[in-house]
Amino acid sequence: MTNVTQKEIDDFYNQLKTEIEERGYNLNPNIDFTKKLIKSLLINRKRYGYDSCPCRLSKEDKKEDLDIICPCDYRDQDLNEFGACYCALYVNEKFNDKKQVPERRNLTKTKVKKGEIMKSSKMPVWRCKVCGYLCAREHAPDKCPICGVSADRFEKFEQ
Ligand code: SF4
Repeated sequence: MTNVTQKEIDDFYNQLKTEIEERGYNLNPNIDFTKKLIKSLLINRKRYGYDSCPCRLSKEDKKEDLDIICPCDYRDQDLNEFGACYCALYVNEKFNDKKQVPERRNLTKTKVKKGEIMKSSKMPVWRCKVCGYLCAREHAPDKCPICGVSADRFEKFEQ
C-alpha cells in the first residue's frame, strides 16, 4: 500500500497550480476532485518512479508510458477540443463537467502504427510575434509560456 500524506498533496497542489498558471493553464476549480487526482498522481510517482496519468493503466515501464506522464502528450489537443484533459485535471473556459473526454491515446497510437498520422498530417508551427517562441501543435497556446501574451499574438510560421 502506497501512502501519501495530506501535506504532500497540498504542497504538490500549490506548486502545480502556481507553475501551470504562469504558463497559461488552469487546474480544475473543483478542489476536492483535483486533490484526489493529485493524490493518485503522487501514488503513481512513488509506485513507478514517474507521474503516470492517474486515469489510465500504467504499464509500469517509463519508456512505454512516456506519452502518459503528466502532462501527457494529449493534454493540449484535448483542451482545445473538449476544454479539459482526459482526467479533467486541466481545464479551460470550454470545460463542461457533464461531458466525458474520449480517450485519444489508443486512437493516436493505432494511427501512428499504421503510419496514417505521419503521412497525412504535418503539425503547424506557431510563432509568438512578441518574443519569437516557436511551438509545433494544432493550435497556438492560450498563453505564451515565455512572455505571457495571448493566443492572438501568435502567427503561423511558414517553413
Ligand atoms: S489526462 Fe490530464 S491528468 Fe492525465 S496525464 Fe494527461 S494532463 Fe495529466
